[in-house]
Amino acid sequence: MRGTDLNTVERPYGGCGKCLLGVRRLSRVKLATSSPERQRENVLTAAASVGAHIIGWADDWEVSGATDPVTRPSLGPWLRDEKGPYDGLVAAAVDRLGRNVVDCLNTGYKMRDEKKMLVTYGHDGAWDLDDPADENRFTMEAWGAQMELRAIQRRNRDATVKTRAAGRPKSKPSYGFQYVRKLMGGKIDHVELHPHASEVLREVARRILADPENVTCSSEAARLNRAGELSPADHLAVMYGKPDAQPSAAESRTGVGRRASPTHAGAGATGSRQGGSARGAGGRSSHRPATTGGRRPHGSRRPTASLPIGTPGCRAVASAEPGVPPRPLAPPPRVAAG
Ligand SMILES: [Zn+2]
Repeated sequence: MRGTDLNTVERPYGGCGKCLLGVRRLSRVKLATSSPERQRENVLTAAASVGAHIIGWADDWEVSGATDPVTRPSLGPWLRDEKGPYDGLVAAAVDRLGRNVVDCLNTGYKMRDEKKMLVTYGHDGAWDLDDPADENRFTMEAWGAQMELRAIQRRNRDATVKTRAAGRPKSKPSYGFQYVRKLMGGKIDHVELHPHASEVLREVARRILADPENVTCSSEAARLNRAGELSPADHLAVMYGKPDAQPSAAESRTGVGRRASPTHAGAGATGSRQGGSARGAGGRSSHRPATTGGRRPHGSRRPTASLPIGTPGCRAVASAEPGVPPRPLAPPPRVAAG
């Protein structure tokens, strides 16, 4: 099946009865086997194997498997019949439909009841949930996906509890903060505000809170781009002495991103130095020209990601009062820039 030209499998809706919707989902978890490209290939291959074609894609990136398919930004509207006719769903695997037995079965039975097709890669032909054997297998795959999700959640929770109990920070510093080590490459001693980034973030918060009608996360992202301000990912890369931002999970999966070569990572790579990393804080980071090839602008999404407009991007800022550090919950203002 790999040999066939998969591009011909993508055709607009034609009323042939096998006009199927490709479903893709990706959480932040890095798994090469679920890269967007791999999922695309698998979906097209599966569609071709049942003589169907793909009329469009319901892509939900960075959507956890715990999300009910009906409320997923891209797939949801299709399932609620708001996007027009389609004859069924194709996914790379059952766990791409959802990581929850109830959700998978709901979606599966909905397709059955509406006489729509449900196809996943690796299963011969469309699922026939009226056939007990097929129904059992589908249920088992959904159950497997759910158990996997629970295991992932437990691992993450345990890791958080452990690092918290040990008084250690987990993962990378959020935008606006930096880790301080007493010894180069040593244990993180404490967390403090990044002198430059924390100001950028507070300024954003002040501006939005002062005029929420006219100043939005998107307009702030645009303003920071015009000013040549580094995006959080690039800021982090500069802070850690890397030549360029590490490709995001989604990018490295598709090969879109550029690997940060370790050449300049040497001394500064292990952490920001006390007193503000020389390269990160004031100098180069804030004045890098907007034309720098590798720079990812504020508010830009990864090339492979399609984030629906209106997705909240304002989570980053909770307080604009001077002296109260804003608590970024996630990489701050990153809004779909279209
Ligand atoms: Zn068709």
